Amino acid sequence: MEHYWEKAQQLIPGGVNSPVRSFKGVGGSPFFARQGEGPYLEDEEGRRYIDYVMSYGPLILGHAHPAVVNAASAQAVKGLSYGVPTVLEVEMAELLTQAVPGLEMVRMVNSGTEATMSAIRVSRGVTGRSRIVKFAGSYHGHGDSLLVKAGSGAAAMGIPDSQGVPMALAELTLTVPYNDIEGLKAVFSRFGHEIAAVISEPVAGNMGTVLPSEEFLATIRHLTRQAGALWIVDEVMTGFRVDWGGASRLFGLEPDLVCLAKVIGGGMPVGAYGGKRDYMEQVAPLGPVYQAGTLSGNPVAMAVGLAQLRTIGGPQFYPPLVERTRTLATGLVEAGKRHGIAVSANTIGAMFTLFFRESAPHNFDEVNASDRARYTRFFHGMLEEGIFFPPSPFETAFPSAAHNDETTQATLEAAERVFARI
Ligand code: PMP
Repeated sequence: MEHYWEKAQQLIPGGVNSPVRSFKGVGGSPFFARQGEGPYLEDEEGRRYIDYVMSYGPLILGHAHPAVVNAASAQAVKGLSYGVPTVLEVEMAELLTQAVPGLEMVRMVNSGTEATMSAIRVSRGVTGRSRIVKFAGSYHGHGDSLLVKAGSGAAAMGIPDSQGVPMALAELTLTVPYNDIEGLKAVFSRFGHEIAAVISEPVAGNMGTVLPSEEFLATIRHLTRQAGALWIVDEVMTGFRVDWGGASRLFGLEPDLVCLAKVIGGGMPVGAYGGKRDYMEQVAPLGPVYQAGTLSGNPVAMAVGLAQLRTIGGPQFYPPLVERTRTLATGLVEAGKRHGIAVSANTIGAMFTLFFRESAPHNFDEVNASDRARYTRFFHGMLEEGIFFPPSPFETAFPSAAHNDETTQATLEAAERVFARI
């Protein structure tokens, strides 16, 4: 496989088609996957890993769930793409709008990035305003307006995270620390009438899992309403992951626009954005906000997504998965502490992150104050034990319904050995 990795690095930037897969955050080189089955991922050399990456979230039923892969093959033999509507798209729209609060109309796209980019465009289109607010450490895909991080202080005028993002655009993105109510108020008192939208992860997942305070969520809703700005709730990660319908349903949020992806696509390239009818009626061909896609609502992707969502079936699916996630996170923290390691965890639904620091973090600065070198040792130690954790301290781990008592026990036993030497 070294040959392929050499070749990959010559032919593909960093050898990978998405940066985190390169293991750059933890060192070493990635393995090539050959096959997935339930909670396991097998590499090209035949090593089997208990997988907590799960394609970064989509595979909530585990790898290659029969209902999901059968849906793919049954649809594929009938054609891969048509360029005209299918009943599948209507069924998907119906399922999503019934499950997700505030989702009155929905448009399918091909990724989370497309969903957030499009939602931002709608918010600018309907308000006639240009500024947006995001939270430091939150990732909303790689759209130009969203690749902006916070500096220190209450609000930082946008400094792009990436070369190639024009300053003129980045300047329109205001950033505030996650959970920083006063910082958000300050931004609104200065720029309120220029803000098209606040975009937030209802639970942060891209600085590791970080939970919102109730007051933080309430403040976003209150300030956006008061200023005539929209609240875009980015449920790309949390949608159907923290609960049926997502965090909006779990927390009783009232979003104006919602972004979805990952779980709703079951492993296919799928995203969706939608929300209040008044806003979504501004989208082409009904309205002046343009957004389109040759493969959007792709029939194989819709069949797969529907199969996964119908197998989940509703809220009753989640409690055992939530319980397993909690058992795992708590067990890992307890094992770490037994070995005198400063470790904590944030967990919600079927998401959790271990942080090598004494107390669980509430924002990106606190996440950054974790022991990254120790995470690297933990990651490699666990990988040697046949357990695949995210190859970065800033990613969330995703247990699935295919994980079981055996995988939990194996994970905790391996962690005990790894903690003893890191
Ligand atoms: N928003 C959130 C909250 C995400 O977690 C991600 C991906 N991790 C995205 C947007 C971008 O989605 P995609 O990678 O499908 O473009």
